[in-house]
Amino acid sequence: MLPLISRSFVAAALALCLALPAYADSYIARLLNKPVPGGVAVVDLGPAIQAPKATFQGKPVLVVKDQDAHWLAIVGIPLSVKPGTSQQVISAGRNLPFTVGNKKYPEQHITLKNQRQVNPNPDDLKRIEQELDIQVRAYRSFSPVTPSNLLLDKPVDGPLSSKFGVRRFFNGEERNPHAGLDFAVPAGTPIKSPAAGKVILIGNYFFNGNTVFVDHGQGFISMFCHMSKIDVKVGDAVPRGGVVGRVGSTGRATGPHMHWNVSLNDARVDPAIFINAFQP
Ligand SMILES: [Zn+2]
Repeated sequence: MLPLISRSFVAAALALCLALPAYADSYIARLLNKPVPGGVAVVDLGPAIQAPKATFQGKPVLVVKDQDAHWLAIVGIPLSVKPGTSQQVISAGRNLPFTVGNKKYPEQHITLKNQRQVNPNPDDLKRIEQELDIQVRAYRSFSPVTPSNLLLDKPVDGPLSSKFGVRRFFNGEERNPHAGLDFAVPAGTPIKSPAAGKVILIGNYFFNGNTVFVDHGQGFISMFCHMSKIDVKVGDAVPRGGVVGRVGSTGRATGPHMHWNVSLNDARVDPAIFINAFQP
């Protein structure tokens, strides 16, 4: 016969085993849980009648209902987070840890004819700073809407030409890593919203050219740039598949292509995860 303390330990261990399959079997976790820098962590918040709130690095995160009235936090992990570290989501006063794995991102060397796009002049730098501020504010906005779909549609039908996270060297000088996916499609191709959403920002920016931000809800945000034409205005409700603009090569671009960012809790993450094209 087991002493009392061991018996309660066994009971606790059994309860943990019983609780685990609900999470491991979760369709959402299987598809989206890629806890690497620039990836996504799916964190089980447990059962609750109402949606619990959750934060990561002080920022609100997307919370969705899973099977069996379980709630899941869908957490964006910034590229700057160190692999191997333990991170935590905070929800209802609890610390819920997850470990960040490793992922090696390749390098890319790009030649630009316009040296000003590599080393902008002081006026450009002032403009870039202001534009960055406006765009970061858009990424940090948080609406209470539940996204229409977590698995996103491809905004254009075409092959990938540049992956997420690539370390980029312009004319030999390292700049910010590639924060989105590029698709090789001709200029003028319509860009379709990968989920329903609301247009929260449009602009013509130094690096991104003609740009549209679509908020899918709870900090889950798409950004499209280098467009030749914008077909929406701020405040527009966009249905899933609704056209937001046309492919172009405005801003810092070597030719027409569609660049798409996906952001969660103000962290730019690999859009490939959401179209089931992620490679570890
Ligand atoms: Zn790009």
